[in-house]
Amino acid sequence: MVQSNDDDMMGLALAEAKTALEQGVFPVGAVLSAGSRILGRSHKTMVSNHLNHAEMNLFHQVFRGDYIFSRNDDITLYTTLEPCIMCFGTMLHLPITRLVFAMPDAYGGCAHVKLENSPPRHLSRAVEIVGGVRRQEASALFAAFLDTTTEEFWLTGGASHFQAAVRANR
Ligand SMILES: [Zn+2]
Repeated sequence: MVQSNDDDMMGLALAEAKTALEQGVFPVGAVLSAGSRILGRSHKTMVSNHLNHAEMNLFHQVFRGDYIFSRNDDITLYTTLEPCIMCFGTMLHLPITRLVFAMPDAYGGCAHVKLENSPPRHLSRAVEIVGGVRRQEASALFAAFLDTTTEEFWLTGGASHFQAAVRANR
């Protein structure tokens, strides 16, 4: 269910994504909140080690050392693109109880992966998921990136399902 501050929080995530775009980086931004309190915000960074996703950068920023958060803290992850399997799996290990994303990822998005066959640890990790919040704005940033990137992966049609979805949103 969409909540009253989802639009504003996603606005902060979109601003992070814009920062990435300005640096020539695939524009994903992410924010963590506990109720109305912002815990942190981040975006994808230039390092090409596949660990530099906006969500992972944010998790390292917020959940460092002996953090005191629990699953009762009403922590929401906002991200401008549906999380991949790494970020979604990491989210399940962290005390995050709600996920809100903007653009669905037809190529690598894992928000709707079925956990029914997973081992007990993950069966109990129910997370409320809301997709499509400010989707057009997120998609416009991806379109701007695809128009300007010089990365071989994208120029040769990489993640074709995702590129097609961005084109369909224009
Ligand atoms: Zn990811």
